[in-house]
Amino acid sequence: MPFSSLGLRPELLKALKPKDYPAPTPIQTLAIPAALQGSDVQACAQTGSGKTAAYALPVLELWLRQPRSQPRTVHSLVLVPTRELAVQVGETFRSLATPLPSSLKITVVFGGVSINPQMMGLRGGTDIIVATPGRLLDLLDKNALSLSRLNILVLDEADKLLDLGFQDELQAILKCLPARRQNLLFSATFAPAVQGLADSLLKQPARFDVIPSAGSAPDIVQRAIAVDAPQRTQLLRHLIQTLGWKRVLVFAATQHACQIIAAKLRKAGIAAEPFHGQLSQGKRSQVLADFKASRVKVVIATDVASRGLDISELPVVVNFDLPRSAVDYTHRIGRTGRAGHSGLAVSLVSPDTEAHWRLIEKRQAISVPREVLTGFEPAAAVPTDTGVNAPHPLGAAHDPSGGVKGKRPNKKDKLRQARQQATTL
Ligand code: AMP
Repeated sequence: MPFSSLGLRPELLKALKPKDYPAPTPIQTLAIPAALQGSDVQACAQTGSGKTAAYALPVLELWLRQPRSQPRTVHSLVLVPTRELAVQVGETFRSLATPLPSSLKITVVFGGVSINPQMMGLRGGTDIIVATPGRLLDLLDKNALSLSRLNILVLDEADKLLDLGFQDELQAILKCLPARRQNLLFSATFAPAVQGLADSLLKQPARFDVIPSAGSAPDIVQRAIAVDAPQRTQLLRHLIQTLGWKRVLVFAATQHACQIIAAKLRKAGIAAEPFHGQLSQGKRSQVLADFKASRVKVVIATDVASRGLDISELPVVVNFDLPRSAVDYTHRIGRTGRAGHSGLAVSLVSPDTEAHWRLIEKRQAISVPREVLTGFEPAAAVPTDTGVNAPHPLGAAHDPSGGVKGKRPNKKDKLRQARQQATTL
């Protein structure tokens, strides 16, 4: 089915260059017509499947269809969980809006940078705003904008925004929105825990759950390498050097671990940088720009980089530390194998994380053979009798999330983890 049959006007179709958008992806085919009919939408589709355009195109089309108001009022709000995703989504909107009237104003706001230029940018209003929740609330507090005449609310990475960590901010934002509006919720995962809140937001939604067919599933080879925890940095270095990896995104559990691994790789002559929430926004943007421009080969990141980021031609993702949950695993490995490219996801599994890895395998319905590399053999044999329901060998103190199901680590847990990391890296 071509884009021209989805109900988008020719002006908007001009933005869809055949090279970049040869035909709608399955989620675009389903979600665009439903959103254009004015329905609420809950859409679940794999990472890298074109979700941004699946909501951006109908948002732009619906903005074009409505009469211009004077003064300008915010037509659509797109909420995203991270600053980098805000920038990326803003870029997609701007590129899709290139053929549209220049009167369309798209504004992107996020924290970690001065609020004053953003307040200035909102003078005279805006049509579409892409925002992280915290900064949006700051701007609402300062009366820099009003959302009282909003038409469309989009939650990108919706399950993250509906999760406990964002709940207070989201509720505060919802109070500023009109009750009558269209809601579009998009994510690659919807954990059952957030479905109740999703249901309370949505009115008779069109629900799409795109199960990838064999040909359309992201082409990601998953590998698991058994290794003792203290050997992981050396193994990572070995893999980068012997396999000639050109661009690698490595996930670690803590900010401290990111710093240490990056420092050790740099010492070995590998251009590596940490990426986490403690860095200034300027530094975060710089690291990402250097990574995309191949000035940096390896980025070691916390889960702040696990959602939505679209780094083209990222062939390898490494789980240096395993993710807390199977959902996080999906998002982390989804940074590779995007938009038709193939990818490789390597997880380093040490004896103390074996049980947790099995739980991730079970939730993902995968079975990845443990590889043992010469020179990096774990001292103890990989346990074979640890059932998926067995308790974590090091107990809750080691994995404060309690594995896949548990609570989020608090500050104390994180400090404890950091101390532990420092001794094992
Ligand atoms: P997203 O899931 O929105 O992050 O998009 C992932 C990648 O898919 C981005 O690089 C998009 O430019 C690309 N993309 C989006 N829609 C299409 C399409 N219809 N055909 C091919 N690539 C697309």
